[in-house]
Amino acid sequence: MRRMSHATDETCVVCGAPLTYTCTSKDYISGEQFTIFSCTSCGLGVTLPRVSGNNLARYYSEGYYKKRKSEADAYINRTRLKKVMRMSAGKKLLDVGCGNGALIEVFENAGWDAQGSEMAPPEHFVSDSVRKKIFIGDIRATPFSPKSFDVITLFHVLEHMTEPRESLEKVRTLLRDGGLLVIEVPNQASGQARLTKGRWFNVDVPRHVFHFTPRSLTLILEKTGFRIERISHYSPIYSYYGFVQSLLNLVTTRNNVLFDALNGKITRANFKTWDVLMTALFVLPAVVVATPLTMLESFFKRGGIITAYAR
Ligand SMILES: [Zn+2]
Repeated sequence: MRRMSHATDETCVVCGAPLTYTCTSKDYISGEQFTIFSCTSCGLGVTLPRVSGNNLARYYSEGYYKKRKSEADAYINRTRLKKVMRMSAGKKLLDVGCGNGALIEVFENAGWDAQGSEMAPPEHFVSDSVRKKIFIGDIRATPFSPKSFDVITLFHVLEHMTEPRESLEKVRTLLRDGGLLVIEVPNQASGQARLTKGRWFNVDVPRHVFHFTPRSLTLILEKTGFRIERISHYSPIYSYYGFVQSLLNLVTTRNNVLFDALNGKITRANFKTWDVLMTALFVLPAVVVATPLTMLESFFKRGGIITAYAR
């Protein structure tokens, strides 16, 4: 019997240290299996085998984008606006990896001049006027003027980038001196990630090319010319949902059955009676167990989602 290789010659893209095997995980959309290796020094995880730029687009096809607009997302975007407004006097924003442009719309409605960039555009944008403010393509190829933004945000984007260091270097040139950078990523060193490994909701291979930890995120920001002000471990909705879904993934044959159901994406191809039954049976216990655990991991700085504020 052939075994998956548990060794690699690759080294860490941030600090150059050797990598060690962490876990394997199956993509819940394509069903393909990938392996995560992590840096022995800074803890940064990488998904192998690497999927190159053109092939990566395949994994963002229909299954990826949510079909429904969620109230939770609207609430999260309003929270993001409030937080950024407290930290920046200037009102020019660039949202890198802006998806359908929902955050741009929220900032524009608050009187900001907001723009975005998106590598993998969704089928629908929030509006035509927002669509015109979005550059489609790699952040490194954006036409924006140097030092032209007061705030640049990357919400759940850095882990998708195949060249995160080069991309952050580009971001650095677009931000004005003293401008604010906000980066939110899943935390591979969190309680939920360590407990559920390849079943973790936010492992999301191969779309998540890299898997950050507070340490590796700090290091990559320092190496690209930023100074971190603080890292927040408090992300109540995403962390909590992530914990519940990760626990459910332990009892189903494939990951993220509830997530697909909530987003109206249960299809004939991915429907299994067993998975639906187990999800129905365990959803309440998972909610009960995840409540204190999410609070604990946030309190002990092991949050499932981390947000870095840097200048
Ligand atoms: Zn490293």
